[in-house]
Amino acid sequence: MNDLQVELTDAIIQTDVLIAGAGPTGLALACQFVRYGIDFMILDRAEGVTPYSKALGVHARTLEIYEQLGLAKQAVVEGAIAQKARMLKSGEVLAELDLSNLGIGLTAYPYVLFLEQSKNEQLLDDYLQRNSKTVQWQTELVSFSQTEESVTAQVKAVGGVPQVIEAKYLVGCDGPKSLVRHTLGLEFGGSTFERIFYVADAQIDWKLPHDALQVCLLRDSLLVFFPLKGKNRYRIVGTFPEAFSKDEGDVLYAEIEQSIQAEADFALRVHDVEWFSTYKVHSRHVSQFSQGRCFLAGDAAHVHTPVGAQGMNTGIQDGYNLAWKLAFVLNNKADESILETYNEERLENAKHLLQTTDRAFNIAAGSNWLLAFLRTTVVPFVFPHLIRRDRVKQFLFPLISQIGIQYRHSSLSYHAGDQQFKVKAGDRMPYFLVEGQSVYDKLHQPKFHLLIFSNPSVDLDALKTELESWGSKFIDFNVIPVNSQVAEIFGTNQSFTILLRPDNYIAFISTETSLDRVKTYFKERITD
Ligand SMILES: Cc1cc2nc3c(=O)[nH]c(=O)nc-3n(C[C@H](O)[C@H](O)[C@H](O)COP(=O)(O)OP(=O)(O)OC[C@H]3O[C@@H](n4cnc5c(N)ncnc54)[C@H](O)[C@@H]3O)c2cc1C
Repeated sequence: MNDLQVELTDAIIQTDVLIAGAGPTGLALACQFVRYGIDFMILDRAEGVTPYSKALGVHARTLEIYEQLGLAKQAVVEGAIAQKARMLKSGEVLAELDLSNLGIGLTAYPYVLFLEQSKNEQLLDDYLQRNSKTVQWQTELVSFSQTEESVTAQVKAVGGVPQVIEAKYLVGCDGPKSLVRHTLGLEFGGSTFERIFYVADAQIDWKLPHDALQVCLLRDSLLVFFPLKGKNRYRIVGTFPEAFSKDEGDVLYAEIEQSIQAEADFALRVHDVEWFSTYKVHSRHVSQFSQGRCFLAGDAAHVHTPVGAQGMNTGIQDGYNLAWKLAFVLNNKADESILETYNEERLENAKHLLQTTDRAFNIAAGSNWLLAFLRTTVVPFVFPHLIRRDRVKQFLFPLISQIGIQYRHSSLSYHAGDQQFKVKAGDRMPYFLVEGQSVYDKLHQPKFHLLIFSNPSVDLDALKTELESWGSKFIDFNVIPVNSQVAEIFGTNQSFTILLRPDNYIAFISTETSLDRVKTYFKERITD
């Protein structure tokens, strides 16, 4: 080996996973790796977490994920629970909806939490620091290549020399213009809305109390005011009407304010503007979420309209889906082939998400005359009655809160025998109380969970001992009594077994209470 080769080899930094981008997706993925004890590096070209409020709505599924990190309580304290929504026409209140408990009984977090992206990122970054992990800020991923064994990345810190990082895997959490996606040559198909969106955080003086999300019902655009913590502080989100012809970069703040005044059509004063931005909305998803040893997550893989506040939440869930699979492979507890299920599950989710957000955007702001008519005249009178109905609640809340996402079609979902249950393989673990406490309290370990739903008098010691000698390093064991709530949710009052994945999705549900099926599941779907 000559001198030059020695120098180069010495300069190469080795890690198991390189995360490019420390927005909410990259940070949340890194936090998951901490739970699993995975060796990783995370870098971002920015100076630190975003100072801008950006995403605001944090949904139940994200809070369930935060709970496993011990961050949910703090998030709820720092944020504001959405209490009400008012529908306005020229300042007149046409309808009022109670949002505070829409998902009661479905999750420990039956609401939407308003907590700015900057605060979410800070929460996650603090968690990393508490666990002795730091983001390498001001460090850019410049290029990379991969072989069957590894990924080699060239990175450069501001004012530093280029460095080479060799990782077993690379995850591109590098946002909508993703270098990782471009380098992999993956298609990012979809469309761009012609309308220009604006967003501003400001104080507003008006006649309305600061206790609700205020929605102005308009024929040709969108105007919504979200209450933020602080006296009369609001996030304003709107679109310019279709006829507005400027490019996003050329819009002046004065034009935004003019539009707000004109569209709201009642007396209000906007002042102390902390931040504003204009942007065009794209609705796109990548053709595949992974290629070889490289993965995409968050906005790098999908972008959509802000309706329903899904972007940040979806990125966090992408990472949650990927983390345990990579961790199991890196810890030699799973075959590399399970990594294919990341694309299988999250691509399907992204496609579905784009369809629903596009549809919702057209209902909320589209210029089709019939929809405009329904929006401004029929919706305010019908919608408040509709969402009081349990069935609508049970459809709407799971959809928006993302607790309704399921992977029934995934190759990790083993369906034999689940026909007799209301809950199927691939569903998220339903929420219910066990002796007054959330079942999710039992699911914090970064492992699979074997849940035996049984009458307490049944002796399960032998099963527990067998599991301990076979797989307690990667499966934990819980016995849960079959009470009336369990019987109602699962559709049986007999004993049954659930094998739950580490991300709390059901691998299988069965009336068998032996370990045989668990062993077969692992052999067929995880280790082989
Ligand atoms: C006004 C607005 C309102 C929104 N409201 C909501 C909402 O209420 N709820 C919701 O869920 N979503 C919302 N979103 C969407 C949300 O902000 C995004 O979906 C979210 O930021 C995506 O996170 P991410 O980590 O995937 O990407 P990003 O936040 O874009 O982070 C990517 C990171 O990668 C870094 N990076 C890029 N390239 C490189 C490179 N080559 N090397 C190193 N680092 C790199 C960037 O510096 C950045 O920090 C909103 C967005 C906007 C703009």
